[in-house]
Amino acid sequence: MNPVRVFHLPLGGQKMLSNAAIAGRLRQFVATDITLFVSGVVGAGAIVLMVAFLLKNSYEVATSSAERSAFNLIQLIDADIARNLELYDLTMTGVIEAARSRVGDQMSPQARHALMFSRVATTHFMGGTLLLDAHGAIREDWASLVPRHSNFADRDYFKVHQNNPDVGFYISRPLRSRLDNKDWRLVFSRRMPTQDGRFDGIVASALRLAYFDDLFRSLQLDRESTITILSGDGIVLARRGAPGEADLTGIDVRHRRNFEQIVRMGSGSFTSRSQVDGVTRRYVFSRIGHHPLIIVVALSLSEAYGAWASSAIIIGMATAFLCLGILAVTLLLRRELHRQRATGRRLASLAATDALTGLPNRRHLEVELQGAVEQSRLTGQPLSVLMLDVDHFKSFNDRYGHLVGDEVLRQVAEVIRRSVHRPGDVAARYGGEEFAVVLPQTEYAGAQRIAETIRAAVAALPPVGADMDTVTLSVGAISRVVADTDNADVILIQADTALYAAKRSGRNCVVSFGQN
Ligand code: GH3
Ligand code: MG
Ligand code: MG
Repeated sequence: MNPVRVFHLPLGGQKMLSNAAIAGRLRQFVATDITLFVSGVVGAGAIVLMVAFLLKNSYEVATSSAERSAFNLIQLIDADIARNLELYDLTMTGVIEAARSRVGDQMSPQARHALMFSRVATTHFMGGTLLLDAHGAIREDWASLVPRHSNFADRDYFKVHQNNPDVGFYISRPLRSRLDNKDWRLVFSRRMPTQDGRFDGIVASALRLAYFDDLFRSLQLDRESTITILSGDGIVLARRGAPGEADLTGIDVRHRRNFEQIVRMGSGSFTSRSQVDGVTRRYVFSRIGHHPLIIVVALSLSEAYGAWASSAIIIGMATAFLCLGILAVTLLLRRELHRQRATGRRLASLAATDALTGLPNRRHLEVELQGAVEQSRLTGQPLSVLMLDVDHFKSFNDRYGHLVGDEVLRQVAEVIRRSVHRPGDVAARYGGEEFAVVLPQTEYAGAQRIAETIRAAVAALPPVGADMDTVTLSVGAISRVVADTDNADVILIQADTALYAAKRSGRNCVVSFGQN
């Protein structure tokens, strides 16, 4: 006789998880997974953004410091050229004054020559000073007591003064000397008027363009950087070009894009490609005093940004490594998380499974039963539970041994497994040769049908052993709505009571609680 047993469900402590709890854990896992992924990506992204911001700032600092040093160069060049132009102007006004005063008319040629050119500054790059008459012929020659024979009426600077009395100090285009060694020079000139203001010739003083080469040589500048001095109408007066560049002196760049922009801006800077050699440079430019001259310092990008670029490369690489590291650690953590979850699931599944039959075990059943009890209490839907016990199983073991007994248990388990179909149904091995089936939302008739199906199917199993013993089982069923005061223990006790009644009724039958 089976005694009525009292069941204590392990509701606290080491609890197995119900389907709802598993779904909660899954949500938590997905949330952790997403948080891990997002924080890795966002962290790496934030570092990239921060470094990009810092690099952009330091790029701007590099730009302004390059511009500052270019402007300093321009100031130096400007000061030197302005001083020279002033000197040349003084020279020329001195010649004009001496010529107009007629003081020298009574003097010896030597004394008159000395008086005429007394203010001429004989700098290294002075290319000569001439007083030309109204027809362009040399009237007084700084280089010779007896003026050399030549005529300059065709020169632009002569024509300018001839045609316009208001030009003042004029700077010619670069030209090659007609008298000396044919080198490049600029000619500065002023008009000489008669007492009544008519054109009486000009005084012209030449500056050898070697002056600019000398000036540029003294400046510290990267080989790829260039300096250009332009006239206001776009003629290259002097240039320190990039290595291997053709001589651009005297060429007209008026219609080139960069010159147009320089004229438009007056003074300032921009980055652009050179139309001479296709190299991109930072152009910094300004006018020289009030003269129609423009100085353009075009810094090579390596001069302007070389130091910035090398630190940017190091910082960029370090950032890339750091971000890759963060992403790699994130991926490793995620992989570990997934691995742990898979292991956890495997272990949980092992812990919930009966090794002999492969059915869920008693712990699993109790958790599911607890869920089903709560669901029934909440929804008012009936819950059915079957307790199944193999009849006279002890004698199978005694007669044929435990291995045969185990095989019988596996066959019975298989029958039970096949007999429950709905997703919420749980069939479990409760212990020994006892099984239990939880059938949520199942009323009496349904539970009876399933119990009867299992009973009949087990009875139809092939007979066991030499004596052809039939395997049968007894089923105790309980079907009802769970009341507020109920719990899973009570339901199991009632199912077990019904099972006890089935045993008493001769076994191989189904008895429902309250129906016996
Ligand atoms: P009743 O019809 O009243 O249920 O009689 P019974 O012999 O089936 O019941 P009893 O409780 O007397 O014996 C159950 C037997 O089931 C005892 C035990 O040796 C056997 N048993 C329990 N677990 C296993 C198992 O895993 N394998 C095998 N082979 N036998 C088991
Ligand atoms: Mg038993
Ligand atoms: Mg038994």
